[in-house]
Amino acid sequence: MNENIIEIFSTVQGEGKYVGCRQVFLRLEGCNLHCSYCDTDSAVGMHPDCVVEEGAGTYHLVPYPNPISPQRAAELVEIAAAGVPHQALSITGGEPLLHAAFIRALAPHVQLPIYLETNGTLHEELKKCIDCVAGISMDIKLPSATTHPVWDAHVRFLEIAKTKDTWVKIVVAAESPDSEVDTAIRLVADTAPESMLILQPVTPYGGCTKPSPEQLLAWQENALRRLAHVRVIPQTHRMMDML
Ligand code: SF4
Repeated sequence: MNENIIEIFSTVQGEGKYVGCRQVFLRLEGCNLHCSYCDTDSAVGMHPDCVVEEGAGTYHLVPYPNPISPQRAAELVEIAAAGVPHQALSITGGEPLLHAAFIRALAPHVQLPIYLETNGTLHEELKKCIDCVAGISMDIKLPSATTHPVWDAHVRFLEIAKTKDTWVKIVVAAESPDSEVDTAIRLVADTAPESMLILQPVTPYGGCTKPSPEQLLAWQENALRRLAHVRVIPQTHRMMDML
């Protein structure tokens, strides 16, 4: 049940529906995908310590030996949140649902609502812990950005996730084919039309380049024909040099 945690810290949520809210982040090791724009070193076993910010906003980073129990992780979340009211605990990765049992065991010890930031492919794992989470930030991965298409996995995931406060994010690059963005938009419209869709221009990394304003406007226009809630939001924490 103990897991390797990469880091626990307090910062401003830089992405998605709750952009700008103060949250604690807990980042778990490991991922089941390989995205071209991935900027997270989440390889399993590469983190002998969990780096914890002791006191919200202090940048006082202290290593705690991994692996860590769910109860101890909840205590470390309180340490990271100390002194500042927070809106939520965001559990991210890597892919947090590789650790569904850990999330389930952690939840009773955490005061804050729990949000998941997930790649939206592990629907069976989501079932194991969905009753413990208040919100889900789900990615749709375009085939051009990953090693293989995961459309079917996304549909099965969103069918389950839509029973919660779920918003869907598509990271788009200059290289993103219109046909793939269109398929992703239709997937959301057919499966969970009430969900908010966020088009997130990629932060250039790993050879990806950011889309043009014309591309973003055209993709949003396409999405707005099928969905009521469509926003274009970049990674704002990068602009502010926040954690
Ligand atoms: S799903 Fe997220 S953590 Fe996993 S490879 Fe893609 S960007 Fe990285």
